[in-house]
Amino acid sequence: MNDLKNELKMEFSAISSNEGFARVAVGAFVAELNPTVDELADIKTAVSEAVTNCIIHGYEQKEGSIWIHCQIQGRLVQISVVDAGKGIRDIEQAMEPLFTTKPELERSGMGFAFMEAFMDEIEVISEPWKGTSVTMRKTIGEG
Ligand code: ATP
Ligand code: MG
Repeated sequence: MNDLKNELKMEFSAISSNEGFARVAVGAFVAELNPTVDELADIKTAVSEAVTNCIIHGYEQKEGSIWIHCQIQGRLVQISVVDAGKGIRDIEQAMEPLFTTKPELERSGMGFAFMEAFMDEIEVISEPWKGTSVTMRKTIGEG
C-alpha cells in the first residue's frame, strides 16, 4: 500500500441538495482503501450527519459555505467538516444523545451519537459566531 498521504479539499454551498453530493464524493475518495459495504455506509452516514448539522444549525438554512478536508494515510481516514456558522456554546451538552436545540424541526438529537458510533474517533471544535469543525477518524480494514 502507498504510504503517501492522499488529500481531498472541497468547499460547497450549505444547501441540502449538497448533502448527497458530499457523501458520494467522500465515499468515492475513500474507495481506494476497498472499504466493506458497512464501513463505506458508516463513513457516508457520518459525513451526512455532519453536513446536515452545518446547514440546519450552523447556518440555520441561510447562505453559507461548508468545507470538507479528507485525508487518507495508510488505512486511516480522517474527515473534517467545517462551517463558519453560529457555533456551539456547550459542546459536551450538544454531543449528548437526544439533545437538540431544534425539536420544532423534528430533529432527534442523534447526529453526534451516530457520528460517534460509526467512526472510531470524533473531535469537535467550535466557537460561537466563528463556526464549528468536526473531525472524524476511522481505520479501514480493522475487523
Ligand atoms: P438530528 O441530527 O438527530 O437530526 P440534531 O441535529 O439536533 O438532531 P445532533 O446532530 O446530535 O442533533 O446535534 C446536537 C446539537 O448540536 C444540535 O441540536 C445543535 O444545537 C448543535 N450543533 C450540531 N452541529 C452544529 C453546527 N455545525 N453548528 C451549530 N450547532 C451545531
Ligand atoms: Mg444533526
